[in-house]
Amino acid sequence: MRTAEAYVESLRARKLRLFVDGELCDSPVDHPKVRPAVNAVAATYALAHDPAHRALATSHSGLIGRPVNRFTALFREREDLLRKLEFQRVLGRLTGTCFQRCVGLDGLNALWVATHGRPEARSRFDAWLRGVQERDEMLNGAMTDAKGDRSKRPPEQPDHYVRVVERRADGVVIRGAKIHQTGAANAHQILVMPGQALREGEEDFAIACAMPVDAPGVTMVLGRQPSDDRRGGPDAGNARFGGQECVVLFDDVFVPNDLVFLDGDLEACSTLVNTFAGYHRASYGGCKPGNLDVLIGAADLVTRENGVRKASHVRDKLVQMAHLTETIHGLGVGASAKGTLHPSGVWVVDPILANVCKHHVTSLPYEIVRLAEDLAGGAMATLPSIADLDHPELGDALRTVAGTEERAKALRLVESLTYGAGSVPFRIECMHGAGSPQAQRVVLERTIDWDAKVKRARVLAGIDTDHELGDELDA
Ligand code: SF4
Ligand code: FE
Repeated sequence: MRTAEAYVESLRARKLRLFVDGELCDSPVDHPKVRPAVNAVAATYALAHDPAHRALATSHSGLIGRPVNRFTALFREREDLLRKLEFQRVLGRLTGTCFQRCVGLDGLNALWVATHGRPEARSRFDAWLRGVQERDEMLNGAMTDAKGDRSKRPPEQPDHYVRVVERRADGVVIRGAKIHQTGAANAHQILVMPGQALREGEEDFAIACAMPVDAPGVTMVLGRQPSDDRRGGPDAGNARFGGQECVVLFDDVFVPNDLVFLDGDLEACSTLVNTFAGYHRASYGGCKPGNLDVLIGAADLVTRENGVRKASHVRDKLVQMAHLTETIHGLGVGASAKGTLHPSGVWVVDPILANVCKHHVTSLPYEIVRLAEDLAGGAMATLPSIADLDHPELGDALRTVAGTEERAKALRLVESLTYGAGSVPFRIECMHGAGSPQAQRVVLERTIDWDAKVKRARVLAGIDTDHELGDELDA
């Protein structure tokens, strides 16, 4: 397994074509807007070598017969689903941001399920996965298409979707783009997957394949995030870590046959999309509570600095923040604990609890953020820079009225996490990552057994006979 240092070095070996603010970036790893996100991924590598966390961070691979980083492992036991959640919570707490490796993890497990019963696809995927595990690679799980006008199907607006534009004897050529690509510029490989279930006649869009991030024709463009110019500086808030999303453009990228896992298989692609959605919606019950732990800690820290920590309304707000955080975590744990064994040999989460988990993530963190802003007070939005507090002429006077540098850093952290450079994982990603709120409602409506509920209601209302409990109770 790679160390954090070896991971960072391995990124330098890539010939990645990455644009940042309109300019080609020669050395992504050293760019101040990229490096915090590299650090967050590096933490996933570091913990695999940390005796305190190794049990969570690694998993035994039956494929290559040795321990691998959990982010490349199949969910071979129900406990693997639970360990993933715990590992995500630890990483979320240690980094205070998105550590970017879960889309790849959830994607590779979903592909294992989707290739079940398809020997050719499975053998190509199996061979590829062994290589990923052996090299301990970071994957950019590339799902979300641009989608354009949502009232139109992919063939009506092909440029808004990744699709196969040519099939050759030795492989396929793909074109299009994936957007919102978490950690793409920090990855070794791209795992392209369809972003939605597809219909007959849409086979060209039903493509799941892999490629190196620097394959000819791949271009990445770094997404901007609030206050990202502060990254790496004293006012960053979160001093070391940050998230990352990119647009990934595929300009006629050739993918050899051994890296094509599904091509035109509508049924397998639908299984892939649904299975992935379940895994990733449960994942938010791991990382988000970890992130929220940091926000609770930051808000608590400010109340201590302000001398109000013991006030009953302050204590109550902190309890409420923790209560909402544990609600999300409990749902992720529940979705994992109620997982079932798929015939392919990997465990899948309970779809109802996974969707309820993610659905709560679309609202509860906003309330937690509101409470953090309430506790932090107005200074989180009006404080001068750390440079001003350190200024030889102004410093003394400013620190008297604005507080110590320690207080300023605590306020900057709350600012960063609630609406600054670090806020994407606390807000927008909570809303739209792993599917916008309506996507979860659609799954819930489709998955819940409404008739079973009505059936029991009819019995208890005395309309129908109670076959389930029989007459013995009345004897
Ligand atoms: Fe992982 Fe959470 Fe980031 Fe998704 S949002 S990649 S689950 S840390
Ligand atoms: Fe995400």
